[in-house]
Amino acid sequence: MKPIALEQAAINAEGLLLAGSPHLAVSSVHFDTRQLNPGSLFVAMTSGIRDGHDFLLQAVEQGAVAAIISNQEKIPAGLPKDFGLILVNDTLRAFQKLAAAYRKQFAIPHIAITGSIGKTTVKDIVAHVLEARSPVYKTYKNLNNHLGVPFSLLQVEEKHQAAVLELGMNHAGEIDLLASLVKPQISVITFIGESHLEFFGTREKIALAKAELLPHTAPDGLVLLNKDSEYLPRIAHLYPGEIMYYSVKEPCDLWAEKIEPTDSGTQFDVCFASGERFSAFLPLHGKHSVLNALPAVAIAKRLGMSTEQIVQALATVKLSAMRFEQVPSRHGSLYISDAYNASPSSMETASRTFAELFPSRQKVLVLGDMYELGPQSAQMHAGVGQALTDIADRIELLVTVGEDSRHLHDAYGGNKLHFATKAEALTALLPLRDASHAFLFKASKGMELWTLLDDLENHF
Ligand code: ATP
Ligand code: MG
Repeated sequence: MKPIALEQAAINAEGLLLAGSPHLAVSSVHFDTRQLNPGSLFVAMTSGIRDGHDFLLQAVEQGAVAAIISNQEKIPAGLPKDFGLILVNDTLRAFQKLAAAYRKQFAIPHIAITGSIGKTTVKDIVAHVLEARSPVYKTYKNLNNHLGVPFSLLQVEEKHQAAVLELGMNHAGEIDLLASLVKPQISVITFIGESHLEFFGTREKIALAKAELLPHTAPDGLVLLNKDSEYLPRIAHLYPGEIMYYSVKEPCDLWAEKIEPTDSGTQFDVCFASGERFSAFLPLHGKHSVLNALPAVAIAKRLGMSTEQIVQALATVKLSAMRFEQVPSRHGSLYISDAYNASPSSMETASRTFAELFPSRQKVLVLGDMYELGPQSAQMHAGVGQALTDIADRIELLVTVGEDSRHLHDAYGGNKLHFATKAEALTALLPLRDASHAFLFKASKGMELWTLLDDLENHF
């Protein structure tokens, strides 16, 4: 972070400077005492289980030089005399205001990415491609909420030439708030799917919630919409500026065709409505990975990168762990771990992608429960089971693990086994651990299905 004077921090947070030298420079802002370092400004959050005000003395010990507080009565005796204090009504809002004001100092393009599926993947590919030219700040891991987005904005530094930020949401109004902090020049909506149906009820409502990003995008900026996601063209009128559609299915502003899977990734042609086209290779599997790479192509072009730079950068993309990640095995087995997360669309896509790959191996799908699907959960699990019946001829065995995935099992018309626990599933999988098999592991994060992969690999 670029240092800020305490007085400026108070102005930005719309707070009152109670104590400390106005010229005191703060060099970072944190609400978690474990992240504090010498020179930090500590934000005493009150929204969590614990009240941040109870950690003020600890913050001093960790090197904090000032704090944002909302409760004067909880100022502990024994704070150093020169310790800075900014009083606000709401410390969370103050943190967000601080981030929004900090962001305004940087004229570099801020790129906001939201959507039900693929945010992190698109964010990582966009940042990777832009990084080939100059330093970029990107959201660390999945810090995409009301705390993560302001935190990310505050990490941008002078050396960065762009910021690529993931915006997540659980309820209506959340993207509106996050986008008002980010004020993006370029926005991407990746997909409208079933994630978080529990909180929204319908896909139309989810589409509207994502659309909250559009009015906050600079009118002379660019909005990228996935043409293949049914609901996205219906929200386009909410942005007055330039919209670019991308697709892996049909010609539009930017699309991919001649998509060919290989053992190490996917070859494809990138085509623009202008007639320009070029070939590219992505070291990722599945058509959806090509779809996720198209925004990076559009953004890199918009920011002036050459086709050669873009093609070279795409060829070296590497995603975070557990996103269709090929995990090494001592037994010659081939494991694909996609156990980081799951929704019906991503589970179906990952399973179909898996079925098309590795023609020399027999394939075992290991699927666990998908969480947060609300009252329709059983039905949605069954929907995936039914849909996957079309690939049953390419899958040797479907192993489902958990509770709701029992419905996926019941609806699937192929060779299958269901287990309530991972330990039971392990017993069934062990005899298949050899050089002729490939396994896909996918479930919601809460299932921690990666432990089953580890146990399968490491069991004696
Ligand atoms: P979260 O809401 O947890 O932050 P996210 O939107 O960041 O999720 P990713 O982490 O990028 O999404 O991807 C989640 C899962 O969806 C991964 O398993 C990934 O392989 C799969 N996936 C990504 N893009 C698509 C897509 N376009 N269609 C189907 N599945 C996809
Ligand atoms: Mg994510």
